[in-house]
Parts: sequence; structure tokens; C-alpha cells
Amino acid sequence: MQKRECPQCNRNLLDSIVDKCMYCGFVLPENLKLSDEKKEIIEKRLNEAHEETQRRHKSKKPEKPSIFDYYHDVDLDNYDANID
Ligand SMILES: [Zn+2]
Repeated sequence: MQKRECPQCNRNLLDSIVDKCMYCGFVLPENLKLSDEKKEIIEKRLNEAHEETQRRHKSKKPEKPSIFDYYHDVDLDNYDANID
């Protein structure tokens, strides 16, 4: 998988549905953005994880969402292989 680095702070970019660097907030250029297809996969996975969390913590008050909830380190290569 191709490494993606932020042009501004040079840190590794995690795959996310946000077209910004999670470290410095730099707006990513076209060539570093993820395709809509990959974003959909990530979004679906986030939703599933969110529902799972809600099931587990049904009695508890929902936690304030953290910005890091949107930056799961998704292995997209594996996901691509599993798409029918
Ligand atoms: Zn950055």
C-alpha cells in the first residue's frame, strides 16, 4: 500500500473520511485524498463499530465523540480483497 504523508507536517496520514491531516489540519490535495469508495468502506466500518459500542454501553451515558473516532487505522488493502 502506498504511504501517504502530509505535505505540511510530513507525518503519516491515516485513512479517514476527512480530507485533512489529523495532526496539523492541512487540507489534502486531490492526489492524497481517498476515493469515495474507500471512504464509504471506512464510514461503514465506523458505523458498525459505533453501533457495537452503543450495544455494549446501553445503560451508560454516551461519551462525547472524540476527533480520533474518525481516524481508525483501517487496513484498506484487506478490505479491497474482501469486496465482492
Ligand atoms: Zn499535517
